[in-house]
Amino acid sequence: MLKPLSEKQQNPAIMPSIFSLELTDLENWLSDIKEPKFRASQVYDWLYEKRVTSYEEMSNLPKGLRDKMKETYHIEPMKELARQESSDGTIKFLFELQDGYSIETVLMRHDYGNSVCVTTQVGCRLGCTFCASTLGGLKRNLHAGEIVAQVLQVQRALDATDERVSSIVIMGIGEPFDNYEGLIKFLKVVNHDKGLNIGARHITVSTSGIVPYIYKFADEGMQINFAVSLHAPNTEIRSRLMPVNRMYPMEELMESIRYYVKKTGRRISFEYGLFGGVNDQVEHAEELADLINNIKCHVNLIPVNYVPERDYVRTPKKQIFKFLETLKKRGVNATLRREQGHDIDAACGQLRAKERQEETR
Ligand code: SAH
Repeated sequence: MLKPLSEKQQNPAIMPSIFSLELTDLENWLSDIKEPKFRASQVYDWLYEKRVTSYEEMSNLPKGLRDKMKETYHIEPMKELARQESSDGTIKFLFELQDGYSIETVLMRHDYGNSVCVTTQVGCRLGCTFCASTLGGLKRNLHAGEIVAQVLQVQRALDATDERVSSIVIMGIGEPFDNYEGLIKFLKVVNHDKGLNIGARHITVSTSGIVPYIYKFADEGMQINFAVSLHAPNTEIRSRLMPVNRMYPMEELMESIRYYVKKTGRRISFEYGLFGGVNDQVEHAEELADLINNIKCHVNLIPVNYVPERDYVRTPKKQIFKFLETLKKRGVNATLRREQGHDIDAACGQLRAKERQEETR
């Protein structure tokens, strides 16, 4: 098992966020302070319909309650430290958290809607050898509300043009299953019809493969899209690329995935990064096809994104197509990820869009 997080990583000394509260949490808190329950819906309406940024604006609430909320829950938007806009419409935001850490959030515009890629941790401790997010280690988990706030702030930016965030991918910095509680709370708030009301089928969570949580997630009964970063056709190569595989070897991973598919009846996505000379040969494609042979799945091929601190090289285009064709010939449902935001660096692996609809077929 992964070691438990330190107290500082798990419970940073910051004010709790109002956006961490599910509607029922808010009702409970209100009843604790002897306020009527119906106020919870009013507050939710201000937060998620009207999207106000202060308690002062919640004009139908008594002043006493507004003051009490202000003392207890953080509501202020994160400071926007930078915003980079790509010619394809992708926008990368750099936000500052209460304790000064900064995180990235990416808005991707597709012809079918707007998708937000959110960060779940400040840094990461999984140590994938190709990934930039893990270079400085893990600073801390985000509170659920800090993940919700990312979506809200992008939504506010879209309000100017009357657009809506239509889907969410949890593929920013961090390992969502290493912040499991925060992740689940986040999902409940954004999915709630009085919250951001984003349908479960429009939300995708991606994990590096922390096996016990795959079982747990399967049992949650949520209709969320689920992706696993596989990146290798066998356990030896996977261990070289992803240290997490030494803790949860591929065999155990595949078993948990079979459980997931059986339990939920849902198809799973595999992300497979092509790392030049490591896992990108036709024989690897054949081996991969064998590995996932009778699993209801989809494979997303991702050409490696160059990370200066890492020395992986890109697979030549011709070889990428050969790999793709091999999978297809074997009956694997596979696509190649289209890249976005290249001119602004938003396409760096850890921040990439992972939307099935977006891939070039
Ligand atoms: N920690 C989760 C969520 C991150 S999602 C996970 O591992 O799934 C980001 C995706 O981009 C993952 O599939 C990750 O393996 C991949 N990725 C990270 N760095 C990359 C790089 N340099 N090139 C291509 N893909 C990369």
